[in-house]
Amino acid sequence: MNKIKFATVWLAGCSGCHMSFLDMDEWLIELAKYVDIVYSPVGSDLKEYPENVDVCLVEGGVANQDNLELIHQVRKRTKILISFGDCAVTANVPGMRNMLGGSEPVLKRAYLELGDVTPQLPNEPGIVPELLDRVLPVHEVVPVDIFMPGCPPSSDRIKAAIKPLLKGDRPTMEGRDMIKFG
Ligand code: SF4
Repeated sequence: MNKIKFATVWLAGCSGCHMSFLDMDEWLIELAKYVDIVYSPVGSDLKEYPENVDVCLVEGGVANQDNLELIHQVRKRTKILISFGDCAVTANVPGMRNMLGGSEPVLKRAYLELGDVTPQLPNEPGIVPELLDRVLPVHEVVPVDIFMPGCPPSSDRIKAAIKPLLKGDRPTMEGRDMIKFG
């Protein structure tokens, strides 16, 4: 049997969605029979997102230049991209900074006005990625195939969404159990 190339990506999120993924506990062993995890903060050390990924769960909003570059690469190299959790679907918690009017006031407030010792803006080109002015939900940057809301989505919801994909089918994302936010 050809295994599905499976990935998970962590953009601007708290990693709670990934924790919920790990909460599938022993079903992860079952999942491992069907998928090869080719890229993930919880299952692979690979630094570069690989080519020809079948399914990818994307956690988090698009908040900085690194997120932006990665999500374009993910889209180009992935057949089924799943917007995974409320931060990916709506920008949610990281998107709360959008009401403050851009990255500059946010950085000034956090690092200058509230900086107790040697207040200074973080600046290390190539190491500290530049913030985007607004945090964007994934579908505002690239097309998304499946939306899986939840903060985080429960492990039951994640399992119910992944199971059909293992047989080449699409999950039905309908009803309270599958698409309730929060
Ligand atoms: S949706 Fe909730 S659990 Fe998931 S990354 Fe955002 S804040 Fe964390």
